[in-house]
Amino acid sequence: MTDVLPPGATIGILGGGQLGRMLAIAAARLGLKVHVFEPGHEPPAGDVALKVTTAPYEDADAVRAFADAVDMVTYEFENVPTSALDLIESRVPIRPNRKALATSQDRADEKTFLESLGIDVAPWAPVDDRAALDHAIDLIGTPAILKTRRFGYDGKGQSRLAAPEDADAAWQAVNTAPCVLEGIVPFEREVSVIVARSLDGQVVCYDPAENVHRDGILHTSTVSDQVARRIKADAALTAGRIVNALDYVGVMGVEMFVLPGDQLIVNEIAPRVHNSGHWTIEACVIDQFQQHIRAVCGWPLGDGARHSDAIMTNLIGAEVDAWQNLATGGGLHLYGKAESRPGRKMGHVTTLTPKA
Ligand code: AMP
Repeated sequence: MTDVLPPGATIGILGGGQLGRMLAIAAARLGLKVHVFEPGHEPPAGDVALKVTTAPYEDADAVRAFADAVDMVTYEFENVPTSALDLIESRVPIRPNRKALATSQDRADEKTFLESLGIDVAPWAPVDDRAALDHAIDLIGTPAILKTRRFGYDGKGQSRLAAPEDADAAWQAVNTAPCVLEGIVPFEREVSVIVARSLDGQVVCYDPAENVHRDGILHTSTVSDQVARRIKADAALTAGRIVNALDYVGVMGVEMFVLPGDQLIVNEIAPRVHNSGHWTIEACVIDQFQQHIRAVCGWPLGDGARHSDAIMTNLIGAEVDAWQNLATGGGLHLYGKAESRPGRKMGHVTTLTPKA
């Protein structure tokens, strides 16, 4: 197989959630086929994929058969076990590459990598055991957040320390897993940038979105010139440096904090399409999903320019029950999940207004 996947080729996607679903829809638009690998039953991406393999990532035979049935493998979530990736990589390319995946899977490695590029991050120290937590508190001070190095998402695997006396409780709250201790930074806003890099090194960056979280889960992403103007260039340059340093191919979400004086620090990177980039479906000629498929297939990237202001609102849990009313409002996306549970992302809606 050459580096470029022609129309008609089959993309393997690890993970069958809503991101996989929207990637599969984008792939179909470009005449590409999708085969999803997902341990859970009735995955949202399964409705729109040509084929679904339902098996755990530890099932070597299933992983091998999947890899042999596709031309290239991409993923919609980061925590794929190394053993599965090793098997796949011996058979077909994985894009984005393993280095990007490994770096983003571990908060300490991620921060070390970002600092090596001269990119600012929150003050932090590694915490591998209880004694190291005391040492880290001496270094960083409080208030601070203890975050597990691996497997954290939507604010899970985190515990806040208001004072050094909270150390024992925080250490128990993260189940004594290897962590980093991060100083609380006085951010004014949380923003994210969706960046794409092609196989031949072309970089396209979307306008930064301002993100508001509720109960640790993304609630809204808002994009307008007002949000973008002051930090747009810095954010794009930072994101560009990250993808170039990783020789990255595909779309990446870069989450940042804006400190007083418009100083940007990077919170974390996600080597995949990102919830805070869903607004691009309605507000850009080529959205993040199209862009990711183009990049990982070795195609030219498209125009990521934004033609409208946009607000994307996630529909969490029972919020989706209002789908009939929401359908009259904006671009409605429902993920096809049979059961709504508290905290579960069920869909999103994007409203556009003319660019101010
Ligand atoms: P994370 O899982 O790292 O994205 O953190 C979840 C949320 O906690 C972020 O979206 C912020 O609202 C908050 N947070 C994380 N790290 C920090 C920090 N160093 N200082 C202040 N707030 C933070």
